[in-house]
Amino acid sequence: MSRALEILNEVFGYPAFRGQQRDIVEHVADGGDCLVLMPTGGGKSLCYQIPSLVRREAGLGAGVVVSPLIALMQDQVAAMKELGVRAAYLNSTLTGAEAAATERALRDGDLDLLYVAPERLMTPRFLELLERARIGLFAIDEAHCVSQWGHDFRPEYMQLSVLHERFPSVPRIALTATADAITRDEIVHRLALDEARVFISSFDRPNIRYRIVEKDNARSQLLDFIRAEHTNDDGTTDAGVIYCLSRRKVEETADWLKTQGVRALPYHAGMDFETRQRHQEIFQREEGVVICATIAFGMGIDKPDVRFVAHLDLPKSVEGYYQETGRAGRDGLPANAWMAYGLGDVVQQRKMIDESEADETHKRVQTSKLDALLGLCETAACRRVRLLSYFGEASKPCGNCDTCLEPPATWDASREAQMALSCVFRARRASGFHFGAGHLIDILRGNQTEKVRERGHDTLSTFGIGAELSEPEWRGVFRQLVAYGYLTVDHDGFGAFMLTESSKPVLKGEQSVTLRRYVKPTRTRQASSRA
Ligand code: ADP
Ligand code: ZN
Repeated sequence: MSRALEILNEVFGYPAFRGQQRDIVEHVADGGDCLVLMPTGGGKSLCYQIPSLVRREAGLGAGVVVSPLIALMQDQVAAMKELGVRAAYLNSTLTGAEAAATERALRDGDLDLLYVAPERLMTPRFLELLERARIGLFAIDEAHCVSQWGHDFRPEYMQLSVLHERFPSVPRIALTATADAITRDEIVHRLALDEARVFISSFDRPNIRYRIVEKDNARSQLLDFIRAEHTNDDGTTDAGVIYCLSRRKVEETADWLKTQGVRALPYHAGMDFETRQRHQEIFQREEGVVICATIAFGMGIDKPDVRFVAHLDLPKSVEGYYQETGRAGRDGLPANAWMAYGLGDVVQQRKMIDESEADETHKRVQTSKLDALLGLCETAACRRVRLLSYFGEASKPCGNCDTCLEPPATWDASREAQMALSCVFRARRASGFHFGAGHLIDILRGNQTEKVRERGHDTLSTFGIGAELSEPEWRGVFRQLVAYGYLTVDHDGFGAFMLTESSKPVLKGEQSVTLRRYVKPTRTRQASSRA
């Protein structure tokens, strides 16, 4: 039996390796570099803990783990110590004396595993210390933090290639749970891992049921969802996370849910540290707590029984969506990923990219990431197939997402797309301004509103030509036209629409447009079918 397996059994008390763990552990224990892409909950920690112990026993020195997550470091060190491993951490929470004692232990060879924050690692003093100590391997956890395009970017991660330059003979293992092709390349490039073996695990989380509903009244849709699927007989709620884009919306949603009998707590970076910390702890330790949060919440949360993750606003990318929804169901039991998504979300995200300070390249990358996410939202095919294919993984329709369970109807909307696009064009030509969905829909449906009359838009040839579609149906058309790039959002900041290059073939009838049919929210449908 290999020493790695013995350590797994004896130290960790697990009978067998999972998935690719065994190959990874042996590769690193033998001194190889690697990049490990494994979903959250897949068991990344063992991939560096066991090789560290193997190499330590062989007299090659301690394992050094770079991690940006202070809470996680502390938890892991406590867990390691309980197993009899000599583990310690170095981060900003230690006193000078504590840090000095840990550094001494490392130098004297009294540690098996040392967790260190990247900013600490990169100090010249610490690098010198590492040169004097014996180091068996470097593990770079949360390696996607090196990516400038991701929202977890940590500038200190950019300097981690220094490890390779200063310690060429020490193997390095970089690990992450998020990596589309762009991020993956960036990790390899920035950490100088060109020679490293890449281990890609399946990113599928089969126990998570994906659902993306069209926004009608998002709050009450959310409450309906929680009541229907995550409320127990005694009235308590399952543990869940609700993501909102703004701090204000986080607060408002939490307050409102409380009035509805849901034990909701807010969490965002604008709250004072103690309150935030307290809310996180309550969520972690107690049952029945729902956290309303911005994306500031989540990295390093290790709660296995989160039963649902809900999005009231659109994430920034498929990776973001995957990572955030991935916090549900880490225990492998059924969990829900639920999102409400509407025209306003598309407009808002496009605007945010437009108005950001970023340079053109950065904006282009963000735009293509958003487009991929919109594709996931609008797809009439299996969500999981779409999600996994974004990470380069082929799969079959899953039977556990909304589109598999209730396949959405699609329709040939070429004519309606032409109406909408030519309405954008004519309204603009008539008044010199671009208009948003509300006004354009009034024109299409022939509503004699004050604004329509004032602007003389009741004389446009598109006035009233789209009366057979309801207002929500038109919103669905506009949303999809924006999602597919047939329309774009004006730079003026008011969410007005403009034509794009891709609009032309549609207007000329050279390009057909297939859209998802608007589905009325269930409540209304039930009400009307009873009438
Ligand atoms: P990740 O860092 O990839 O999110 P962790 O390393 O935290 O995942 O592991 C997730 C859970 O799975 C932990 O509770 C861990 O103890 C458990 N685990 C990992 N590998 C094994 C294994 N081979 N056998 C049993 N349990 C495992
Ligand atoms: Zn599916």
